Amino acid sequence: MGRITLNQVTKSFGEVNVIPPLDLTIEDGEFVVFVGPSGCGKSTLLRLIAGLEDVSGGDIEIDGKNATALPPAKRSLAMVFQSYALYPHMSVRKNIAFPLRMAKLDKEEQDKRVEGAARVLNLTDYLDRRPGQLSGGQRQRVAIGRAIVREPAAFLFDEPLSNLDAALRVGMRLEISELHKRLATTMIYVTHDQVEAMTMADKIVVLQAGLIEQVGSPLELYKAPRNRFVAGFIGSPK
Ligand code: ADP
Ligand code: MG
Repeated sequence: MGRITLNQVTKSFGEVNVIPPLDLTIEDGEFVVFVGPSGCGKSTLLRLIAGLEDVSGGDIEIDGKNATALPPAKRSLAMVFQSYALYPHMSVRKNIAFPLRMAKLDKEEQDKRVEGAARVLNLTDYLDRRPGQLSGGQRQRVAIGRAIVREPAAFLFDEPLSNLDAALRVGMRLEISELHKRLATTMIYVTHDQVEAMTMADKIVVLQAGLIEQVGSPLELYKAPRNRFVAGFIGSPK
């Protein structure tokens, strides 16, 4: 569960091509970071994988099945949005259970999954609070909880920490890495922050203008950047 393959995927908005034909394989259980400057197509790529945008060409396989035409809800992927995407009038419990209520899962199973997610995320004592009564880091954990309960094949994060202050960001980075170890589920994490990429990734995909400049482990990119752009971005001396 959680292997994702892009075959010659392209995306254009009107006349403007944002993603030229792109091939990429993400292995089951990998923590993959898409990194690159603002506007290079990171969010677009994530939204194509999630099914929130249609590809202009090519196809997307999830666990060996062609998912190109599947709506987001059928892809078994969970997108984690920034913490402000919580419902302010609902308790933490209701926020986390929201996707399960939408899917009409039975109540007992909903409770079980919400409590399991709360345990993993240290939110058990906060289930009856509203988002406004939580710290920024706790709110971000609720947003992650809402993804966990769906038991997805992969988690997709789009700059989830960009709204948090620097100190909190470091803590959340560690928490997300820990969570990845515990769940062993594929995670795709988008950031423009080199430090996040280098510290969190099993595999980094460096993008520029929709093109993959290089794919490799943090160490590979550091030791053997393919070009000046990658070297500059990763901060190694080449
Ligand atoms: P990133 O997430 O790396 O900052 P995006 O994927 O958001 O980049 O955007 C890549 C390019 O695609 C940008 O030039 C952006 O303006 C363009 N773009 C993204 N979404 C749309 C859209 N819905 N319509 C038109 N252009 C878009
Ligand atoms: Mg973006």
